[in-house]
Amino acid sequence: MRKPLVVGNWKMYKTITEAVNYVDQIKGALPTPEKVEVEIAVPTLFLQSLVERTATSPLKIAAENCFYHDEGAFTGETSPVALRQLGVKHVILGHSERRRLFYETDEVVNQKVHAALNAGICPILCVDETMKRGQSHGQVAWMVSQVIAGLKGVNEDEMARVTIAYEPSWAIGSGKVAATPSEANEGCYLIRQTIAALYNDQIANRIRVLYGGSVNETNLVDLMARSDIDGVLIGRASLDPTNFLKLVSIVS
Ligand code: 13P
Repeated sequence: MRKPLVVGNWKMYKTITEAVNYVDQIKGALPTPEKVEVEIAVPTLFLQSLVERTATSPLKIAAENCFYHDEGAFTGETSPVALRQLGVKHVILGHSERRRLFYETDEVVNQKVHAALNAGICPILCVDETMKRGQSHGQVAWMVSQVIAGLKGVNEDEMARVTIAYEPSWAIGSGKVAATPSEANEGCYLIRQTIAALYNDQIANRIRVLYGGSVNETNLVDLMARSDIDGVLIGRASLDPTNFLKLVSIVS
């Protein structure tokens, strides 16, 4: 049985004051991590202070990105080794916003996946889909190719630390147009099948596959009831602490 994982992705929202107030509000109010794991991915600037504030809480703090080298002359980038030293466990990699706005290719995402794993951080590898599967040819092949390319060279042992997120960009950000639960489940299922073909059934059955894209309190129950959805990556609806707690309680 795969334990559910709920990750809030703050993107580039909040000031440090808002971030600290948010975390202080929710850190004592979460279910035990035996039921559901809860993380928020926050801007790099907030990581240290929020990791310190959540040291004894079930709430974990994740990074939204990292670079593919541990150190060097890379102005403005964040080292995965430095993240690990801070106590960060998960890093989101290959988010569609990074692929689209910052031109991250599959090769770059794959390098980042390796750098994170080598540094002792667990990647959440995001897989995009720009149009609904029935509306455009090639979306399935493209999704599969992102999984294959993103995981190139990742060995079976390392796969124990990998999470995949099916995040169709056509469903992200509106708060309204989410994938239907069956569309979301099918996306997660396709990813799991790809993992089975690349590795084996055991790894495919063990890996957590999340859905992200306009998750809210109306669609979350149905999403979590589906066989291949092991958790959610929540953008907009995670920004309000009361709302985020409500979503977490639905999953637990
Ligand atoms: P929304 O929940 O705002 O659609 O964002 C989803 C997302 O991008 C999570 O990574």
